[in-house]
Amino acid sequence: MKIKTYDVLNLPLVPASERLTVNLLADPVTPEPRSIVSVSGSSPSLVRRARPVGQGAHFSFLSTLPLSFPYEFPPEQEGELALGERHQQELERDDGDEAQLTEQQKKEKVEQAHKRRMQEVEQMLQRYEVQPSEAGAGGDGLQGHVPPRRKHQHFPSARLLGVSPAVLRDCLPHLDVGDALEWIKKNNKSAGPSSYSSGPMADAATTTDVSPEVAARKTLSDFVAGRLIGARIVGDASTLEADERAGYGTKYMRLREKIIKGEVVDESTEARTLRRLDELEQKRASGAGGEYAPWSLCYAGHQFGVWAGQLGDGRAFTLMETKNPATGERWEIQLKGAGRTPYSRFADGLATLTSSVREFLCSEAMAALGIPTSRALAVVALPELKVVRERLNVAAITTRMCPSWLRIGSFQIHSSRGEWESSRILGEYVSHDIFGFTDVVKGGAVSSEQAEKRPMWARRMVQEVATRNARTFALWQVYGFMHGVLNTDNIALTGHTIDYGPYAFMDLYDEGQICNHSDGEGRYAYRLQPTMGVFALRELLNAVAPLVGFEIEHDRAPAPGELLRASDSQIDEWRELCSDDFSESLEALFTSTLLEHWKQAYCARLGLATVRADDKTALIDPLSDVLGDLDFSSTLRSLVRFPALLKARGASTDDEDRLIKIVDAFFAGDRDAGVEVWYDATVLPEYAREPKEKQARAWLLSYARRLLAEARDGDEVAREMKTRNPRFVLRNWVTNEVADRLEKHNDTDALALVLEMATHPFRDWGLPRDGKSPDEVAEEARLCSLGRPLTGNLPSCSS
Ligand code: AMP
Ligand code: MG
Repeated sequence: MKIKTYDVLNLPLVPASERLTVNLLADPVTPEPRSIVSVSGSSPSLVRRARPVGQGAHFSFLSTLPLSFPYEFPPEQEGELALGERHQQELERDDGDEAQLTEQQKKEKVEQAHKRRMQEVEQMLQRYEVQPSEAGAGGDGLQGHVPPRRKHQHFPSARLLGVSPAVLRDCLPHLDVGDALEWIKKNNKSAGPSSYSSGPMADAATTTDVSPEVAARKTLSDFVAGRLIGARIVGDASTLEADERAGYGTKYMRLREKIIKGEVVDESTEARTLRRLDELEQKRASGAGGEYAPWSLCYAGHQFGVWAGQLGDGRAFTLMETKNPATGERWEIQLKGAGRTPYSRFADGLATLTSSVREFLCSEAMAALGIPTSRALAVVALPELKVVRERLNVAAITTRMCPSWLRIGSFQIHSSRGEWESSRILGEYVSHDIFGFTDVVKGGAVSSEQAEKRPMWARRMVQEVATRNARTFALWQVYGFMHGVLNTDNIALTGHTIDYGPYAFMDLYDEGQICNHSDGEGRYAYRLQPTMGVFALRELLNAVAPLVGFEIEHDRAPAPGELLRASDSQIDEWRELCSDDFSESLEALFTSTLLEHWKQAYCARLGLATVRADDKTALIDPLSDVLGDLDFSSTLRSLVRFPALLKARGASTDDEDRLIKIVDAFFAGDRDAGVEVWYDATVLPEYAREPKEKQARAWLLSYARRLLAEARDGDEVAREMKTRNPRFVLRNWVTNEVADRLEKHNDTDALALVLEMATHPFRDWGLPRDGKSPDEVAEEARLCSLGRPLTGNLPSCSS
């Protein structure tokens, strides 16, 4: 079937009834998509200032804005002063009357100057936002907006570094990226204006080529660089200007002002919640008028086991939700590192080139290993924008995608604030639209009548989170993946691996390995990952316990408004009911599911078609001991040769002597017969060699018996094992080298090669073959090597 393709702005959105922003509650400062429009009464700084986002909100509408922070605002025209300099001059200016002023008057003068400066900041920020005159009549796709100040020469230009062909194949076959891949290749190692793919620098290097391929690439590049805002705002300039929901904070700020002046009385929490439930119903009924704008999520979490309160997307923006037309799978396309949000706290909202390239590559590497993960469509560098971390870095933005970006922390934020209606709304949406429990009812009118029998979802939903994450955690262990920051805000409800930070694949096998520089205590060490999964799941259950307890008591789900009427002691009773009846079975479900998947996937790596009850204790645990201090991935990959050798030499369980000889030949190599050494003890300290060798031989013998017992064809087993044991593993030294080459030489070929290897990890990389020069083959082999194994110099959180 030929799939119709669209440029990124015109990708079909999911139906209105399934959109996150139609189903969940918006930040009161940004109640509508049109809140991103710049109207004169608006306070755009509000949406980029750290603040608690209240009133039960799940998300904030806002546009991407990749600028250094604190904002600098260089002058608009040559010869003018920047805002900060002008302000400084104003403060220092002596009008000649300084001596006569009282202290009070001096203070007022400074206050006036600050106020003027704040107004100017707001006016300046407004020029970065969608202008009312740009609003349109709607239509199918999103409209692209590049507000005036984003055309200014100081706005950071972008360079497209990579686009993942695997994402186009697996997730977005309907996306037309134009000539993006060819363009990247052509501009390898180039510098100067023509090496930019979007922004003022690229605008300056005008080309006359306006073919559809060029246009699609330019749109993509501008969009994923956070410069082009894709939104759908319906209306004309004058109605928008008058609309109180347009412009950041407009309606909210007017109301606050009236409350402060005593003109109106603030609503009670109950009245406000009821009003918001009603507004949500209206929004659902109207499909939200067909409007659309990007958003950031509000969530909380436990960081390193400690409650951290409100976190949220501090540098991530979802741009759109679309479905793969071939599979129906839903994808939320998000930018990471595209500027400040209300959830940025003290940080700049940006990401470094190194961390972005690491996320881009690892998302794709994990998918190729068959591990549930968010994906990465593209990565761009913003060479003019510098990010201050341990050193000055080039900024970059990753375009990443997940069926849903909701996390365990998405429930925790509401439970911590006692916002049970928000928990219910979120739970219904996750159950119905993300997990596909089609019987679950979303919303409905608030009524004090005896509610109809609403299908239950809370226990099912938590179980689904548990089983999905159990499988993911199991696969991490089997492939030696260490996440590094398993905080509850970094664990997706859908079980996809998300938020790649200081992750690492195990190089030298060590169960206690820690990959995160900030994790001194080793909380997220490899060995402890499953335990941390249990911890996170417990926190999820804590967060939704009253809803689970409600279901246990009433044998139905709560109706809208029903939880609002419950007293605190009633909530506590439900919580108790949940912990008595459900929590143990949930943990058991997680642990047993994890163990099952772990055994299955490990056995598959070992070429076994069946899983036996004692495989953990008799086969896999002893293998862990054998692997100690060896290169985890390559030792397993070379095991692939074993079943074939058993076959070639006619091994059988009846002939013990022969079997021992074959094991010896495999173990220590048989040069005459061209059999390579499997176990290279020279990497071990001398005192450890003999006992380790003995242990390894014994293991190999028992493994041989286990293989022979299945009586499968050795060559076929080997072929199968090759598709389970990667030849290429995305090691830390590789990602760091790629990032370094990009930063110093714009070497996009290096990125493309590693992406190709990471997305086809099972191929025989580094073996001579047609069409490959010896140098190319040698480079592949180098990229597969252990290199500098992980020690010291570890990456940390939030880089
Ligand atoms: P992480 O553990 O890296 O997922 O980050 C924890 C929280 O900090 C999340 O809410 C992030 O969005 C936020 N965060 C991390 N780095 C930054 C940054 N540079 N700017 C703004 N927010 C950030
Ligand atoms: Mg995070």
